[in-house]
Amino acid sequence: MSLDGTYDEGNPFALIIAGKIPSTKLYEDEHVLAFLDIQPQSKGHSLVISKWSKARNILEIEPEALGQVMAVVQKIAVATCKALNPDGLHVAQFNGAPAGQTVFHLHVHIVPRWEGQAPGFVAHGQGHFADADALRALADEIRAQL
Ligand code: 5GP
Repeated sequence: MSLDGTYDEGNPFALIIAGKIPSTKLYEDEHVLAFLDIQPQSKGHSLVISKWSKARNILEIEPEALGQVMAVVQKIAVATCKALNPDGLHVAQFNGAPAGQTVFHLHVHIVPRWEGQAPGFVAHGQGHFADADALRALADEIRAQL
């Protein structure tokens, strides 16, 4: 899928916002939702999305929605560092399939990084699925630092 297109109401993040599929939530307010990635690039990998914007990518998102998302990105980043004490933190956002985007509802990745581990992104859809209980335990640890 290219940078152009229409918003798909059936994309996984729209379904999470609508409560049609589950997610392991870290934080939620009126405008923004943060939750753990089901195919994490590292322990504690989370995603932050706008609940109201139908933007597929950075080119489309309303500045107000982007500001709301980024404020929560910082909040989750701080809590993740307190909870997991990583050596680094990768904040990433992909636009269009050639750039690695697979879900076309704008989202920001927060990926803790540790010395000695490869810093790149494994192609999405080819990583391992996290154990649901492990994700819940991790979410408790991060939420405790919010
Ligand atoms: P993208 O490649 O679009 O930047 O990233 C999409 C991310 O969403 C991937 O890291 C993928 O593992 C994650 N993802 C895809 N579907 C779901 C889902 O249903 N639930 C959760 N929690 N993460 C998802």
